[in-house]
Amino acid sequence: MERYDVVVAGGSISGLLCAREIASGDHSVLVLEKSHEIGTPQHCGGLLSRAALDYLGIIPSNRIVGNQIRTADIVSPNGHTVRVDAGSGILEVDRRMLDKYVAEQAQKIGAHIRAGTSFRGMTDGTVRSSMGDISCDIMVDARGASLLGGSDLLVSAQYEVCADWIRPGEVVVMLDNSKYPGFFAWIIPTQGGMGKVGVGGRRINATAAMQSLLDDMGRYSVFRKIVAPIWVGGPVSDVVRGSVVLVGDAAGQTKPTTGGGIYSSGAGGMLAGQAIARYLQTGDRSHLDYTDAWQKEFGREFEAQHAVRRILERLDNTAIDSILCKVQSSTLKRIASDGDFDFHVGAILALLGIRGVAHIARDITASEVRRASAYIQKMVKM
Ligand SMILES: Cc1cc2nc3c(=O)[nH]c(=O)nc-3n(C[C@H](O)[C@H](O)[C@H](O)COP(=O)(O)OP(=O)(O)OC[C@H]3O[C@@H](n4cnc5c(N)ncnc54)[C@H](O)[C@@H]3O)c2cc1C
Repeated sequence: MERYDVVVAGGSISGLLCAREIASGDHSVLVLEKSHEIGTPQHCGGLLSRAALDYLGIIPSNRIVGNQIRTADIVSPNGHTVRVDAGSGILEVDRRMLDKYVAEQAQKIGAHIRAGTSFRGMTDGTVRSSMGDISCDIMVDARGASLLGGSDLLVSAQYEVCADWIRPGEVVVMLDNSKYPGFFAWIIPTQGGMGKVGVGGRRINATAAMQSLLDDMGRYSVFRKIVAPIWVGGPVSDVVRGSVVLVGDAAGQTKPTTGGGIYSSGAGGMLAGQAIARYLQTGDRSHLDYTDAWQKEFGREFEAQHAVRRILERLDNTAIDSILCKVQSSTLKRIASDGDFDFHVGAILALLGIRGVAHIARDITASEVRRASAYIQKMVKM
């Protein structure tokens, strides 16, 4: 039987970063990816910050980066648009290329990657795969959000669309709590009039919602379709279960506001890989739990994002229209200068009408957000 120190199930961003870190500690690691090609099917808008790429140890080369995002238009249900300047720190990346790049990093340092091979289960240190059994000390579960369940697992559809209403560098976020309850629709430009157009929401018929959105937008062609779950429920509490370590979306490490996870899920994989390497060096199992390291980076912000999500879900379309119509240009300037794409609770609260918070995004706690909620409700009634 084949033997590795670690077998990783799932060869996307979190599994591959995990494998890279394990291999860099000189330990043997095998990644199993059920798809026949790393980076596919691409179920991601690919929006992330330069800072996130830097943190994950990924160079933003032309091979990976498709587009620099200049602005984000936030559109209310009645069509009122608020434009936020995105500065120079937000990128649209091609996930097919990004994941392959990280796979190459991991491979060069000693990891083995096997596409077209499914993880089928694990018993007593033996992983069962579609290509036979493999023995290992640790199995990393990086199989994505579909492992999670419940009402915080939203439905989404994202199509690759060619249309003249997709404008280079301009992201569009469409809010409508009737059509996209608990989420939104989006347009992320890629290149040459192409873009990723998506919808998400709680218990929606995502393909029907997509069709309706596209029909409203004008002439278009669809080149590719995916339907995928998005997790907004926050991180799971137990990432180590015996000899299994959960990472990435499978561990609930996506942003509770937007479901974005390249950064935070990728970080989960990376930090878990470092923790596993320490365990393999020392034999001390207490090293396996990487929760504190991940929480140090994302804990406070995610708690606040979770609270903000609860506020946003309570707003009906009339309230959203009213709030976005009242956004002042000074607020937009402040968000443009102080806002942070990844740690964005301050920016959302500023848009909602809470003054002077954009600069303290990282210090906001859930109880402060609860107080903000009362303020917003009062304001909406005015
Ligand atoms: C429509 C959509 C748009 C998004 N847009 C953005 C965005 O713009 N920015 C952002 O930061 N995040 C975005 N996200 C979230 C982002 O895609 C995820 O957070 C990120 O891909 C998580 O990486 P992961 O490695 O944890 O899991 P995944 O990327 O879900 O990867 C799981 C991998 O496991 C494999 N797998 C599953 N079962 C098995 C098995 N039995 N054996 C072997 N392999 C298996 C799958 O094939 C897959 O490759 C979006 C998500 C969706 C659904």
